[in-house]
Amino acid sequence: MSESLEIKENVTLAPFTSWQVGGSAEFFCLPETLEQLKDALRFAKDKGHKLTILGSGSNVLISDRGIQGLTLCTKKLKAKEINKTETRLEVICESGLLKTELLKTFLKEKLPPAEFLAGVPGDVGGGVVMNAGVGEQIRPREFVEITDWIEVLSLEEENFLELKHYNRDDLSWSYRHCRGWEPGLIYRAQISWPLSDADPEIIQRVRSANQIRLKKQPLDMPSCGSVFVNPEGHKSGQLIDHCGLRGFQVGQAQVSEKHANFIVNLGGATAENIDAVIKHVQKTVLEKKGVQLRTEVVYLGSW
Ligand SMILES: Cc1cc2nc3c(=O)[nH]c(=O)nc-3n(C[C@H](O)[C@H](O)[C@H](O)COP(=O)(O)OP(=O)(O)OC[C@H]3O[C@@H](n4cnc5c(N)ncnc54)[C@H](O)[C@@H]3O)c2cc1C
Repeated sequence: MSESLEIKENVTLAPFTSWQVGGSAEFFCLPETLEQLKDALRFAKDKGHKLTILGSGSNVLISDRGIQGLTLCTKKLKAKEINKTETRLEVICESGLLKTELLKTFLKEKLPPAEFLAGVPGDVGGGVVMNAGVGEQIRPREFVEITDWIEVLSLEEENFLELKHYNRDDLSWSYRHCRGWEPGLIYRAQISWPLSDADPEIIQRVRSANQIRLKKQPLDMPSCGSVFVNPEGHKSGQLIDHCGLRGFQVGQAQVSEKHANFIVNLGGATAENIDAVIKHVQKTVLEKKGVQLRTEVVYLGSW
């Protein structure tokens, strides 16, 4: 095992999530290098521990009972390598690189991914897994459009820890999903855009995108962004709003007054509170509108 990889026991996970809720990880680590990452994965395999991967925790609901086994957080894997070819800006990112850091790289070249990345928190790995995207009709608006390839540490029995390379077209991308690389851990991704698309107005666009979000979303409170994916032909926020659920509260978890598809932590909410709000919203929208809402947020741990 690499000298410096520290595997801690019984670590509270709430500070590692944007909702600021969740119990403890039985084992927890923050690898900083590929070698440490492999050590962590070997540790989980050798000890027979279940592995849970956490990026920036901006799209997960972690159980109050915590997570058994090893929780591996990628936030310290944040190296990036910038290559400017004749035609494209290419950035090879480790999965824990924050999207805001990637944004700065594209902003420097005045390239449109900067505007898109302004809207989505979290890191590059989480962006790929979720095929994160924005509602605005801009280009690019989803991760699939900016991702050239990903490199995955395989967790398959027969080729454990082999680095597998997948080009964008090898993967199956859909609304808030990217499949075809599992079981594994996304170690790196190449993100790129044509240099010929430089836009002198890009800084203003990023500013105005930020202002719109600030106006529409409760960014001053802990949340995970939109809780439900939009069902075909509907907007989840509108459905929830039309059912009179704005402000609906269980404990300290509340359907945001500002944006009905957000559930905010008013301070001291539990994961159970949030889950109870989610279930109530789903039940009410199904009864009143006949639409089954599906969560975008990923449940982790023992439920
Ligand atoms: C205020 C706010 C606004 C938001 N707005 C948007 C928006 O407009 N559009 C949008 O799409 N999302 C939005 N989100 C949700 C979230 O930011 C995105 O889904 C983001 O891409 C998740 O990245 P993350 O690093 O936080 O992933 P996490 O939440 O840590 O993880 C998400 C999933 O990916 C898995 N995962 C993470 N990293 C890896 C890896 N390296 N290898 C394998 N699996 C991995 C995790 O196990 C988990 O299943 C918003 C969230 C907040 C808090």
